[in-house]
Amino acid sequence: MTDNPDEHRGTRVQPEARGEPRQWDQRPQHPSTNPPPFTPQPTPQPTPPATSMALTPPTECPACGKPAGEELSCQFCNQVLFLPQGITLSTAGLRFGGYLLEFVLMICTLVIGWVIWALIVFQYGQTPAKQLLHMRVVCIPQARTAGWLRMFFREVIAKTLIGFLASFTLLIPYFWLLWDKNRQELWDKMATTLVVSDPRDLLRPQPQPQLSDSQAGTPQR
Ligand SMILES: [Zn+2]
Repeated sequence: MTDNPDEHRGTRVQPEARGEPRQWDQRPQHPSTNPPPFTPQPTPQPTPPATSMALTPPTECPACGKPAGEELSCQFCNQVLFLPQGITLSTAGLRFGGYLLEFVLMICTLVIGWVIWALIVFQYGQTPAKQLLHMRVVCIPQARTAGWLRMFFREVIAKTLIGFLASFTLLIPYFWLLWDKNRQELWDKMATTLVVSDPRDLLRPQPQPQLSDSQAGTPQR
């Protein structure tokens, strides 16, 4: 690599000895080692080939209009993408606050009251604390509020199994939602559910669905 100009300066090889033109030696040395400014020619860039087709195009969030990302909820406003506008993914703080409130309600109702309350509101995809906090459990495949049986499976069977697992694993499964992209707990994954905030009760199931009830706001009887 004897043609390196830095090596020429370091060893002070005379240009005449190397057969190079004299005028290079009389030029003032550039203070910086950067090459002289070079203006690139603006070449028209062709459109990228079909390789970008493999990437999922960002879905526009119906609530905030920003690219929603690849998860079930918008990465900016937490709007759940397959549910009506205003239904957001519940925050981790609200979820843990719900656990605490659930425990307080159990104590205040001597547990049996909480159990009866829960068995009633399971049909709305809720538990007692979720009802007070306007949270709701949603079935992901059906894109609607979880029914009574799914709630029973989630609250009783799945949570019992996960609680048994958690007792051997430093309660780590209870904090699963902290690193889950959809804030799912393990019992949410077992029941394929998502916990959302529904402050306007948009997802509350109608108590008596009629066969030809086109207007949901029209009360029957
Ligand atoms: Zn959004």
